[in-house]
Amino acid sequence: MYFRFSMENILVTGGTGLVGSHLKRFLPDAEYISSKDFDLTLESDVRTLFERKWDRVIHLANRVGGILENIDHPGEFIEENLLMNTLLLKYARIQGSRRFTAVLSTCVYPDKFESYPMTEQALHQGPPQETNFAYAISKIALAVQIDSYNKQYSLDYNYLIPSNLYGEHDRIDFQRSHFVTALLGKILEARKDRASSIHLLGTGSPLRQFLYADDLCRVIKICVERDLTESFNVAPDENLSIREIAELAVEVCADGMLAIEFDNESPDGQFRKDVSNEKMKRLIGEFEFTSLREGISKVYSRYSE
Ligand code: NAP
Repeated sequence: MYFRFSMENILVTGGTGLVGSHLKRFLPDAEYISSKDFDLTLESDVRTLFERKWDRVIHLANRVGGILENIDHPGEFIEENLLMNTLLLKYARIQGSRRFTAVLSTCVYPDKFESYPMTEQALHQGPPQETNFAYAISKIALAVQIDSYNKQYSLDYNYLIPSNLYGEHDRIDFQRSHFVTALLGKILEARKDRASSIHLLGTGSPLRQFLYADDLCRVIKICVERDLTESFNVAPDENLSIREIAELAVEVCADGMLAIEFDNESPDGQFRKDVSNEKMKRLIGEFEFTSLREGISKVYSRYSE
């Protein structure tokens, strides 16, 4: 098992991002690239990248952002992501990469669905949520391209569909960060300023499954080692409201000593989008997810160093 993986020539795109930075610890022998090495929206760069033979491609690179950036830059999101995904997949196939694993996101699922948690069958069953529509459509197109290549060219390419992520390697940037990172950044700032409260956008009512980036990387590593080619959701069982997550973080990081204020006016995004991890558990057996409490504690200690 390990022999096959250690002999493979593995390319990881998005190597400087949150997931890519975490993955280096789990797949240290892979080649990690970022936009500084190749601009994957340019066909000439992708062609050059594939002058080398890659047995396996793990495609993480994308234009990714929080809710505000998605609302302000939908044109850039769809253009850059469609170009990157299409070109990467096209050249992997032409050059003969044996495996290709893309990382989608649970935003590919319908904004509202008849039953939760959503299984993989919910894909293509309704339009995605409005605030990240363009980003989600580019991910859905990637899933369709992979499924279509598998059919037409008898390939075994796949995609993982993770829920919202957080981790030590995320950047604290209040305009761009994802919720947990921004939340921990605000707690850190409040403690430094000796403030008595933190201010959060929205109503606090949406439900979210937050996945620790290391957990996704452990799943990717298992896919490589066991040569898994199925596509499936990767999400923990915990599905908490934004308010509950904020309260948990304040308890873990500030001994509960900060009040939490919601502005109730900014957009909330999708109300719920929880997905089932049953297929994943069937495929890879018992998998211990990191609890949100433990993950938040680890990430906050790193941020406060
Ligand atoms: P990230 O931190 O924003 O990193 C994005 C990566 O993509 C960076 O390495 C960036 O390189 C690279 N990239 C962007 N544009 C590029 C271009 N034109 N050419 C080459 N590389 C380019 O993203 P992430 O959070 O690690 O996400 C990894 C994957 O997981 C993405 O596909 C994302 O959609 C998916 N995902 C993320 C989340 C989440 O909550 N973060 C949740 C579900 C799924 P530079 O550093 O050089 O810009």
